[in-house]
Amino acid sequence: MRRPFIAGNWKMHGDRKSAKQYIDEFSVPKTAVAKRDIVIGVPFTLLQYWGAYATRVKPYLQWAAEDVHWEPKGAFTGDVSVSMLKDFKTPYCIVGHSERREYHKESNKQVNAKMNALLEGGIIPIVCVGETLKEREAGKKEAVVGSQVRGSIIASAKSLDLSKIVVAYEPVWAIGTGKTATSAQAQEMCKFIRKELAAGLGKQIADGIRILYGGSVKPDNIDELMAQADIDGVLVGGASLKAKDFSRIANYKEKKK
Ligand code: PEP
Repeated sequence: MRRPFIAGNWKMHGDRKSAKQYIDEFSVPKTAVAKRDIVIGVPFTLLQYWGAYATRVKPYLQWAAEDVHWEPKGAFTGDVSVSMLKDFKTPYCIVGHSERREYHKESNKQVNAKMNALLEGGIIPIVCVGETLKEREAGKKEAVVGSQVRGSIIASAKSLDLSKIVVAYEPVWAIGTGKTATSAQAQEMCKFIRKELAAGLGKQIADGIRILYGGSVKPDNIDELMAQADIDGVLVGGASLKAKDFSRIANYKEKKK
């Protein structure tokens, strides 16, 4: 049984004032909290505050960094290392988000190096993969996502224990566009990812890895997405910025899978 993982991604939004208001307003019943991991990816500048304040007032509201550098230290202006994230007791970190892959030209090899550094440092990586619209329309979605899964994740199968990682399937065409993949499209690709993970890591490990869907998830589509067999959670951008919407998402209505 995979524990549901409901994650937000604030991207470059938020300051202390809005984080405090958000944490105060966020509300999910104890019954849901007990069964689910609820995590918000926040900018580096909020990690310390979030950790300190949420731990005190909403201990179930965990936090993630949105990126990391793979080197432990060095001349990398503007970057942050795993040990710096650990200073703020950061439990999770997103890597390979399509915005990093696109705007910062991050390759599968770099994403893999980030994942490795996080695992070696004891932080759980949330590794993102997903195809563009052009790639999907050209019939290449499996080829693209398969090579991202192999290059970003399975490349480390021999050297690291990958059983605790979280994988997020985020079709680029559905991110921030209001176009959600249908639950059938999302399920199809999450199932495909699990098959790729099984081929590279073994079925037992693949069956335990949580796979999330991300791309215009909202309060009105969460219940159906979470009812899919291979969708163990979601990664939510825009709708995670409003405490009320993300509370509803985290408090999704469970349906039998
Ligand atoms: C994201 O940024 O990971 C994302 C899925 O964004 P949105 O929910 O806004 O599409």
